[in-house]
Amino acid sequence: MGFFVAKGISKFYKAGTGGVHALRKCSLSFPSKGLIAIKGKSGSGKSTLLNILAGIEKPTTGTVFFGGKKANEKGPLLDGRAGMVFQHYDLIAGESVLRNVSLPLSMRGKGNRRAKKLLRDFGLGAFAHKDVATLSGGEKQRVAICRALVHDPRVVFADEPTGALDEKNGIAAMDMLRAIGNYRLVIVVSHNEELIQRYADAVIEIADGVVKTPLLVQSAVPVPKASFRRSSTWLPRFIFRNIRRNLLKDVVCLLSGIVGFSSLLLSIGFFAGNEVAFEEEQTHSLLYPYSSISERTVIEVPGSKLTLIKKTRPSATSMTGFATTFASPIVVDDLAYFFPASMTYETDGQNWEPVSFSPVWDITLETFGKEMVTQGELPRGEAFNECVVNEEFAHRHGGKVVGKVLSVNQRCTVQLEGKTHEVFVEAELIVRCVVKEFGFLNSPRVYYSYPRLEKALEGLPVGGGESNARELVAWAESDSPYSNYSSLLFLQDPNDVARLFEWMEQGDESLDVACPSYVLRSSFHGLSQAFTMSLSLFVGIAVLGLCLILGMSSLSSFVSGKKESAVLMVLGAKRSQVFSIYVAESALLCFLSAGASLLVCPLLERLFNGILRGKFDVSSIIRIPYQTLFGLPFSLIWGCLLIALVLGGIAAALPMAFHRRIPLSEELRDE
Ligand code: ADP
Ligand code: MG
Repeated sequence: MGFFVAKGISKFYKAGTGGVHALRKCSLSFPSKGLIAIKGKSGSGKSTLLNILAGIEKPTTGTVFFGGKKANEKGPLLDGRAGMVFQHYDLIAGESVLRNVSLPLSMRGKGNRRAKKLLRDFGLGAFAHKDVATLSGGEKQRVAICRALVHDPRVVFADEPTGALDEKNGIAAMDMLRAIGNYRLVIVVSHNEELIQRYADAVIEIADGVVKTPLLVQSAVPVPKASFRRSSTWLPRFIFRNIRRNLLKDVVCLLSGIVGFSSLLLSIGFFAGNEVAFEEEQTHSLLYPYSSISERTVIEVPGSKLTLIKKTRPSATSMTGFATTFASPIVVDDLAYFFPASMTYETDGQNWEPVSFSPVWDITLETFGKEMVTQGELPRGEAFNECVVNEEFAHRHGGKVVGKVLSVNQRCTVQLEGKTHEVFVEAELIVRCVVKEFGFLNSPRVYYSYPRLEKALEGLPVGGGESNARELVAWAESDSPYSNYSSLLFLQDPNDVARLFEWMEQGDESLDVACPSYVLRSSFHGLSQAFTMSLSLFVGIAVLGLCLILGMSSLSSFVSGKKESAVLMVLGAKRSQVFSIYVAESALLCFLSAGASLLVCPLLERLFNGILRGKFDVSSIIRIPYQTLFGLPFSLIWGCLLIALVLGGIAAALPMAFHRRIPLSEELRDE
């Protein structure tokens, strides 16, 4: 058995319906040292033979033995016991001579001492720190030979090493290979007869895939073990090199990453902030502590599937029970029969469409709303002729309403002892101030003082002075229209309002509570939920799009860098290490864009909150929870960065994993 043996090697390339027999039953046995040349015409199968010997191409049949043992899956080149020289040098562009030559050492976790020594020995010491791009072809090939030799391989393969060189440089390269051949096996493919004659210890001639002059040397030389320690210290350099090379593409990825992560962060901010903002905002309405309450009775209609619901003013007992829920409730009669919730009014000699007239318990706005005043002065609450309007109302009158007098004329009919009386409720309300309420779903509204209306109605005689309007309401049956079928509830404490909302959430069959702020709250919650859901969908799409962009980008750089990847693997890199260059590039970009988004988002948060505040007059709706999320300190920040790393890595790894694998020999082929 020889040192390096090929036994019955055949190679058949399928092509369409036919194919090519590139090699037919080749058997060879190489000595442990010496320069062996493989010659033959173009297309005769030389490269195929060399690649099969090196193990970067699989034979169709036959076996390769190395050091007396069947060559393993990888073959001597990939398991680190051989080196390879290419026709077009295939040096790593943009790197220095020394870095190129010492790369196989770095991949094995070794220093560059041997690289320096080799360069000196072969007269290339002066070039060590030059960029390989500045070298001549001949110099490049000599550097490439040093690189193939630097990790002390047992065999050096060279496929047409002089093919791209002129005669003088070809000779210099062959001199080097010759020198190596004195102590190692060097297998050179060439069609240069002259050089072969001059340098080769033995020549294998090949024609049409058949070996014409076989070489059968018997020698038993032990070969060191195939395994070698792999290091990854060289990888970061290649990651940054890739980023530099794909700069434009990477900037686009970075920007799309910033867009994706910013929308993610802002949405999280919206999820976290909108409910809180609403809780704060809902008190910014003079209607907040007000509700109207009726008792409901369900009446079964005999012989019908329908039921009637009768609304009446709550009885004192049911109202007392209900009122115990609150700390300081004010329950009063509803005076809407004489002063309805919706009325037309006249101002500046003009009649206006109806607006809402709503009672407030405290027109001086002491408890609720003092800081909501934007125009005018607070009413003193001494007379019924004072009112407060909201901005929507002011807007209707061109903004300037303070001091305007709103005249209301309301005609009511009253039945007393069988007789019908007409009662005129006339009021002149001076607008004292304008309040800026939470603008969501708001409409023009005039607020008047309930206690002052009560007083005013006491002074309004009905039925020829026997009674007054106030008494009529107070004494009315619970199902009489004078009672308006309801009582009013004013609360004086936000905690009481919260209790009311709680009570309403549980629901009560017998009492009907009409609470505008509760309706507002429910519709806001519904809207916010719908908004949150669609936002999640958009963010999902944005993140998916980001992954696609990252995946496509890294796939395209992976494909365009394929030749270099193949060279790296020949020099000693694992396939997974080469993959990791692209995975890390993508993960790093994703990480950076997440970091940038974390920095940019506080500004965007301010900007959007400003815009929303201008539009809806709300406090900050977006509140990105930088401090704590899920109860963990700063979890948003590290969570976001971690997700970015993983997402970026997966986005790059998936398309590469599914990318069709071709034999290394094909990846190495010159286009
Ligand atoms: P040489 O190096 O001697 O010029 P090769 O070994 O490259 O020749 O090729 C030998 C034959 O095999 C040629 O006819 C070539 O066209 C064919 N061949 C080589 N590689 C492939 C391939 N990947 N697919 C199909 N045919 C191939
Ligand atoms: Mg060839």
